[in-house]
Amino acid sequence: MTLQGKTAVITGSNSGIGLGIARELARAGADVVLNSFTNRDEDHALAAQVAAEFGVTARYIQADMSKGAACRGLIQEAGRCDILVNNAGIQHVAPVDEFPAETWDAILAINLSSAFHTTAVALPMMRAAGWGRVVNIASAHGLTASPFKSAYVAAKHGVVGLTKTVALETAEEPITCNAICPGYVLTPLVEAQIPDTMAKYNMSRDEVIKQVMLERQPSREFATVEQLGGSTVFFCSDAAAQITGTTLSVDGGWTAL
Ligand code: NAD
Repeated sequence: MTLQGKTAVITGSNSGIGLGIARELARAGADVVLNSFTNRDEDHALAAQVAAEFGVTARYIQADMSKGAACRGLIQEAGRCDILVNNAGIQHVAPVDEFPAETWDAILAINLSSAFHTTAVALPMMRAAGWGRVVNIASAHGLTASPFKSAYVAAKHGVVGLTKTVALETAEEPITCNAICPGYVLTPLVEAQIPDTMAKYNMSRDEVIKQVMLERQPSREFATVEQLGGSTVFFCSDAAAQITGTTLSVDGGWTAL
């Protein structure tokens, strides 16, 4: 499929799932805007690499998704936003009565409120262009809960609620809004946790992955960033034009349990 002539803005896309999605959108022909809160040479080099590999225009724009004005500024600076992927996210694990209040605020800001701010600025651009796609990266934790992840679970359920509302507000327009709910995905963040867990439980890499990390994922396989990119490209296709306000689980059966 070709997304030539479309511009995609992907928040939190200098690593992991966001970068995987940006690469698949670029492979499908979209110009891409990468983002994170850092402003390093390697961030801009990443954009140059995506541009060279896929023959599209790629830019990196620094913006801190914990700040509403910066979220809005990202879309304004992009200048055009046909495809908006709200992906930036952080996690913290602690019992609710010990959960640091400032961490709660940060998780709600980055994982949920940022999507409100970017969507608010992107929708008028999509209306002007006569076409638009909003893809929110929620989580299996947008549909179900785990202990000690109160802020993350609350934020991701919020993302699913925001997705439905935006879908209803745009239902009669050529704009859709959907959420992808990944289970465990092998991002650098998850990869980095494997050696410590191997040492802690005296387990092999395979045992850590299957018995600890993927204990709730019936397939006992990680989802991949390429698969999430493919799901995003599907939501941007004509075949998905009547799919709006829904969630797509990419979780190896987690939410079927
Ligand atoms: P990651 O840490 O590799 O990527 C997170 C991205 O968000 C990075 O690019 C990071 O720089 C960016 N980011 C963090 N704080 C930011 C801020 N203040 N402003 C701008 N950017 C910021 O993690 P990931 O696993 O790729 O996660 C991406 C998304 O996928 C998150 O929303 C996460 O909740 C969701 N998710 C991940 C998994 C998983 O197993 N990895 C599962 C379900 C959902």
